Amino acid sequence: MIRTTSKLADGRELIYFDSDVPAHRGTADLRPLEAPANRSEIRRDAVTGAWVTVAAHRQARTYQPPADECPLCPSRDGRFSEIPDADYQVAVFENRFPSLAADSPAPEGAAGDPLRTALAGTGRCEVVCFTSDHQSSFAALDEAHARLVLDAWTDRTAELSALPGVEQVYCFENRGAEIGVTLAHPHGQIYAFPFATPRTARMVEQAAKHRAATGRNLFEDLLDAERGDPRRTVLTGRHWTAFVPFAARWPYEVHLYPNRRVGDLTQLTEAERAEFPGVYLELLRRFDRLFTAPGAGGPAAPTPYISAWHQAPATNGAELALHLELFTVRRTADKLKYLAGVESGMDAFVNDVSPETAAERLREVAS
Ligand SMILES: [Zn+2]
Repeated sequence: MIRTTSKLADGRELIYFDSDVPAHRGTADLRPLEAPANRSEIRRDAVTGAWVTVAAHRQARTYQPPADECPLCPSRDGRFSEIPDADYQVAVFENRFPSLAADSPAPEGAAGDPLRTALAGTGRCEVVCFTSDHQSSFAALDEAHARLVLDAWTDRTAELSALPGVEQVYCFENRGAEIGVTLAHPHGQIYAFPFATPRTARMVEQAAKHRAATGRNLFEDLLDAERGDPRRTVLTGRHWTAFVPFAARWPYEVHLYPNRRVGDLTQLTEAERAEFPGVYLELLRRFDRLFTAPGAGGPAAPTPYISAWHQAPATNGAELALHLELFTVRRTADKLKYLAGVESGMDAFVNDVSPETAAERLREVAS
């Protein structure tokens, strides 16, 4: 993997990842951009203990621009985008409208008030362009290209984890307008949070309880149990296992674990990295076939999904296992799962598809 770093006109960092030495990288960004003013803060909900990021400056961000103004396509034919070069393989840059930024100012007042805990929204938000091809998708990448994305995620995890104040690095992809994606170009994002996210904090708690009760690691026990029970298994590789969780929240939800427990992407071995692209691409392709394969009720638009890497936080992260959670909000070819009163109001999920049925369907649509 060849890594080339560069700066955009307003000082943001841009990094190209190439599988081979590229002909040229690092064209100057000629746009007249002013450095954005970041005013992010994080506030702690005194009732639940969860941190909420308040980023009021993001309201002005780009919202579904026409394809010929896509900011993630390479800069070509006199049209300037966020990527100054005329082509790229994988490119990562700092988000122009970040929810979290290193230079966020400390919030005013309320210091020492336990009911109003607020801190600067320090951290970093990056955009990962998976390919220069606007019409493509992650599932359409070949294995070598998907491996390059894995290498980019790994590189960013190592670098962002080392930034002052960063507690957790979260790599993810939102796919589809149904998920609220504002740009159609195949891309993901990375958040370097100054806190452990609420879902991770709960996992840390559960793992600690399991350790206290059994003396063992929760994730290792869980993976052993799922590997010994084929009902919810979706696919197994030499180094990776994918299954629908016993208490899945979403209509189709798959969790992908390396068979050997590690805390984050930087700890994967070469053999584990080499197998990942084939396994992950197969899962994404199965997701795209869920509602289009015979018997699914006719063709549907590409499956919207969220793909979320769970990595150990810096504090109390020793028990956490790196894994990827992939799920869709689509229930049937023409129905979405909405987070309404029960889920949004109470954080209590009702799933209309049994996890065992979902797993069976995900095996049926195998390549
Ligand atoms: Zn594009």
